[in-house]
Amino acid sequence: MAIFTFSLRTKLISLVTLILVTGFGATNFMNYEVSKNAMRVTILENELPLSSNNVYSEIQSDLLRPIFISSLMANDTFVHDWIGEGEMDPDRMVRYLEQIRSRYNATTSYFISANTLRYYHYSGVGRELSRTNPEDIWFFEASALKEPYTINVDNNYQIDDNITIFINYRVEDRFGKFIGITGVGLGLGSVADLVKTYEKQFRRNVYFVDNDGVIQVHADPEISGKINIKNIDGLGDITDEVLSQNRGSHAYDFGSERMLLTTRYIPELKWHLFIEMPESQALAKIREGFIRNLVIGPAVILMTLLMIVYTINIFQRRLETLAITDKLTGLSNRQHFDVMLEQAIKRFKRDQQTFSLLVLDIDHFKPVNDTMGHLAGDKAIQHIADVIRSHTRESDTLCRWGGEEFVIMAPACTADEARRLADSIRDGVRNRTIFKKAPDYKLTLSIGISECLTDDTKDSLVGRTDSAMYKAKENGRDRTEVL
Ligand code: GH3
Ligand code: MG
Ligand code: MG
Repeated sequence: MAIFTFSLRTKLISLVTLILVTGFGATNFMNYEVSKNAMRVTILENELPLSSNNVYSEIQSDLLRPIFISSLMANDTFVHDWIGEGEMDPDRMVRYLEQIRSRYNATTSYFISANTLRYYHYSGVGRELSRTNPEDIWFFEASALKEPYTINVDNNYQIDDNITIFINYRVEDRFGKFIGITGVGLGLGSVADLVKTYEKQFRRNVYFVDNDGVIQVHADPEISGKINIKNIDGLGDITDEVLSQNRGSHAYDFGSERMLLTTRYIPELKWHLFIEMPESQALAKIREGFIRNLVIGPAVILMTLLMIVYTINIFQRRLETLAITDKLTGLSNRQHFDVMLEQAIKRFKRDQQTFSLLVLDIDHFKPVNDTMGHLAGDKAIQHIADVIRSHTRESDTLCRWGGEEFVIMAPACTADEARRLADSIRDGVRNRTIFKKAPDYKLTLSIGISECLTDDTKDSLVGRTDSAMYKAKENGRDRTEVL
């Protein structure tokens, strides 16, 4: 008898699976979305701006040295005297420039005279500057400026090679009159190191963009000075917005990749510092966790389902056993016996293999209850069941038929063999000490036996066996009768 029918169990498991899968899936997915957004905010609001601050402060500290050296040169009495004396003996100036260059380990050092427009260089005297040469415009612009110096960056160098900056320092005589420009070229060494670290270790793109949108310095030499961000997929759409801000956080789609970008204007260089990274890279760890959960989830769900099925099976078996068992004796109950008997009769009709039925009733049981009490009566019924159990075979079906009556169905057993079985049971009961407090109080059984006949139905067989038992009662009890 199946207490949980197949479909009920299937329904239950399906429902639990649905709840677990949706619950687990939804939690995992929501968790992923929340972590993703939190990570995006952290990157845009903290990590990238922090990198940008670090690069900017490196730039500022890297600029201090060349500015200081140029200022020294612009105020050097030798320079002033030499100009005042009419730029005699150019070699002296060249030697001075070379000395400065090598002492401060500069890339270059130079002086341009406002008077002669001659370009002095650490390696020799160069050409004269001309107002009409576009390459020389910077000088004439610098001469008109109010600030003591301007900064130029050589974008022939890539970030990896080192960025070289030039400080053009105004030289003024003691009356404040502009008499030339001097300066050095120096590599922004630690900026380059920092940028390299960001690029290699943190896989971030770091590059500098001028006010027109041209990428001036980039790790890729193919890009430096050649590409305008207006022409970059996704970035082009936000170029105006990005370049109009001093600082900003942005996101744009570069092909299928979402890029997270922070920008910062570097007034000293008149460039915007761009630091960006692909979102997928930032979210890789979170996605890993998401995927790991996706793998663990089904495993946990599967284990839970297996445990549920296992538990259901145990309870089902227990319920099934309970449904067919007599609680007091542990023998089969009447419903189960009915089914077994019906099957046995069918089998007998098919294979003619005989079987016998035995009905056993305790003699004078009522007085037991009356004198010893109902509980002792129950105990006595258990004793009798034990005796029956110990005298029968595994293949026999034993049943508590009701009250103090039992039935045995003994397969492959003739009436004669059944009589021997009945007598051995009666002997066993008679010799059993049933009541410890009254060891001499013996119980006896009256047993009726009938062998199954070809035309028998369940009722006819039971009726005949019952009659045999009553015959035993009538004939004096504690005996066996066969009908
Ligand atoms: P006899 O069979 O020899 O004619 O006499 P009896 O006293 O055994 O008569 P009967 O079979 O009619 O009596 C059945 C009695 O068994 C009635 C009731 O007091 C007792 N009985 C039936 N079921 C139980 C039970 O589950 N527990 C106990 N303690 N007593 C029961
Ligand atoms: Mg009875
Ligand atoms: Mg009785």
